[in-house]
Amino acid sequence: MLHAKSAIVTGSTSGIGLGIATAFAAQGADVLLNGFGDAHEIEAIRRNLEREHGVRVRYSAADMSKPDDIHVMARYASAEFGKVDIVVNNAGIQHVAPIEEQPDEKWDAILAINLSSAFHLIKAVLPGMKARRWGRIINIASAHGLLASPFKSPYVAAKHGLIGLSKTVALEVAEHGITSNTICPGYVKTPLVEKQIADQAKAHGIAPENVVRDVMLVHQARKEFVTVDELAALAVFLSSDSGASMTAAALAMDGGWSQH
Ligand code: NAD
Repeated sequence: MLHAKSAIVTGSTSGIGLGIATAFAAQGADVLLNGFGDAHEIEAIRRNLEREHGVRVRYSAADMSKPDDIHVMARYASAEFGKVDIVVNNAGIQHVAPIEEQPDEKWDAILAINLSSAFHLIKAVLPGMKARRWGRIINIASAHGLLASPFKSPYVAAKHGLIGLSKTVALEVAEHGITSNTICPGYVKTPLVEKQIADQAKAHGIAPENVVRDVMLVHQARKEFVTVDELAALAVFLSSDSGASMTAAALAMDGGWSQH
């Protein structure tokens, strides 16, 4: 479905981003991986994707908190693939604490990585997308882009902001064959959430084993984690030609949480 397309997926060495990058490669797209982790493991992922799917897969260690890194990464993807058709702004971090205890540097880092990085990358790739009259921008927000939970002030602020950014971009570029949408997942069991279970236990003063049942899935009506594969399938649809009219949307995939 994505043959001859090329994509940048930020934060794709783990979790949701890796799932989306894998699904894109399986659909025939060249993919630029990005994110942190063990260099040998990342190289093994890169080679496996190339071997299994017969596409070009590259890697950039760009730090999404650094605008200069983001521009270098975008230029690298363009040079390697000849163009960038699809961008998934997925890289994200979390820090759970009451607002008086949120360290200033966590606020700055979460806003930079979860929100400002999307602005910088969109700005870098739009001229090429406009020139080719085709582009897909997918922003991975969260149910926390649509609603709030206590102890997540920078994350909720950044994710609400990401939806606003995505809608604004969508309106600006709609006549250029470019869409911009936000996916708003409920809880997905990735390393980011594994860490939160311990953090939430501390913030709420409850046992870690009760966090999943009583905090994370309490409003997720389906009482199941969302899966990476489900999210990747939505990203593939948004990236396809069939997604042309879906733009400026904030798409909840949260087991009913945001309608509770
Ligand atoms: P994860 O921790 O498994 O993966 C995060 C990825 O981002 C990793 O590849 C990591 O290396 C990368 N990353 C972190 N900081 C970076 C930086 N400064 N520069 C470049 N890359 C960086 O997390 P995940 O659960 O897969 O989350 C992915 C996205 O989905 C995040 O934006 C998160 O907010 C969002 N999300 C996750 C859930 C969930 O329940 N897991 C729910 C809603 C939204």
